[in-house]
Amino acid sequence: MIKFRIYTLGCKVNQYDSGRLERLLAQSGFMVGAKKVDLAIINTCAVTKTAIVKDRRMINLARKENPGARIVVIGCWPKAYELSEDVDLIGAEKTPELTAKKIKGLYGPGKKGVYNHSASLLSANSDRSRYFIKVQDGCNQFCSYCIIPYTRGRLHSRPQSQIIAEVKAAVASGYQEVVLSGIHLGLYGQEKAGNKTNLVVLMKKVLAIRGLGRLRLSSIEITEVTDELIGLMVQNKKVCQHLHISLQSGSDKILSLMNRPYDSKYFLSRVKKLRQALPFVAISTDVIVGFPGETDKDFSATYSFCREVGFSKIHVFSFSAHEKTPAAQMSGVVASEKIKERSQKLRSLSAELETKYQAEIKDYFSGQELAVVVEGEKNGRLKGKTEFYFDIYFSSKQIISASRKKPKLGDLVRIILL
Ligand code: SF4
Repeated sequence: MIKFRIYTLGCKVNQYDSGRLERLLAQSGFMVGAKKVDLAIINTCAVTKTAIVKDRRMINLARKENPGARIVVIGCWPKAYELSEDVDLIGAEKTPELTAKKIKGLYGPGKKGVYNHSASLLSANSDRSRYFIKVQDGCNQFCSYCIIPYTRGRLHSRPQSQIIAEVKAAVASGYQEVVLSGIHLGLYGQEKAGNKTNLVVLMKKVLAIRGLGRLRLSSIEITEVTDELIGLMVQNKKVCQHLHISLQSGSDKILSLMNRPYDSKYFLSRVKKLRQALPFVAISTDVIVGFPGETDKDFSATYSFCREVGFSKIHVFSFSAHEKTPAAQMSGVVASEKIKERSQKLRSLSAELETKYQAEIKDYFSGQELAVVVEGEKNGRLKGKTEFYFDIYFSSKQIISASRKKPKLGDLVRIILL
């Protein structure tokens, strides 16, 4: 029997794809192995220069750990780069099903039906306390710094029926929180003009699944925070009060160079609308620091804008041009020392805003009920994730409702916040 191992780099979407591919290959008679496998698959990320360095390292590691193995590189690398070495390249724009088919093609048909456990619909790589499900892939946005539309192709969504079946299986196997994820999640179902389905329609269907504890979105663009979505978040308490909305810059000049489809005024107006409806909602974000042309004035606009919005957390990315994107040809390259200095400033702001936001929530909910998903235990205390996407430590005495006496990883419990 052919032994294989998948090495995964990059985002949750890649992790999900690897899990699905592992299941599909195992179902076809391949065997999962740890070392000295016959087939080493590397699921790559090509989002930054650093990511590409990591891909190379991983390919070398896979070679070292598995002497003589066939090396197959999948994910975002194959579309962006050629590899002269003796590896098979399979692009990321295809589904894991097609990738599995191609890999099987390299070896001929395997033995059928070896892998057949009850949760076989589930991805092998989901977080143990939450179930991540990829519902969509690809992007048509072409932000000037991003390689994704070139590597993963255009928008394509998974059929609703497939998603519902997978979420039902996840819930039946004990997952309480499900996270819908995708490369451009907010455009689920919208690849063709006139499509009737969209993210909110999908969410309503998922929310109707019996036994589901709560639903989270992995990330969304501000242009997709529609009144319909806000309405659903208000009306259905199972939807987590947390949205990850990438800002990338608070300077309108830089946003336009980035080819982002909004300006700061629009961003703020939607945030206000969201907060009017859900005053405690957590809004986390990504910001790229040191984009070509970013002056001190532009950076200070970003800094003050982040403070004005009051993000619950800022993921700060230091710009490094991906050579195959338009941003790599832009003038006004920012010195790396400057990028470092600005990134540090923004990270300190993030820490300050994070503390402030969490203190406000804890203060408001003090003495009240709060639902958390159990994520672990530390020094005799349980750790749980709130719907606002931060961790809380609590003792078992604080639990007021749980499905079992001793809660397990992934259980949704209600606690009294002290
Ligand atoms: S929206 Fe922009 S940053 Fe996000 S995947 Fe698409 S091109 Fe990349």
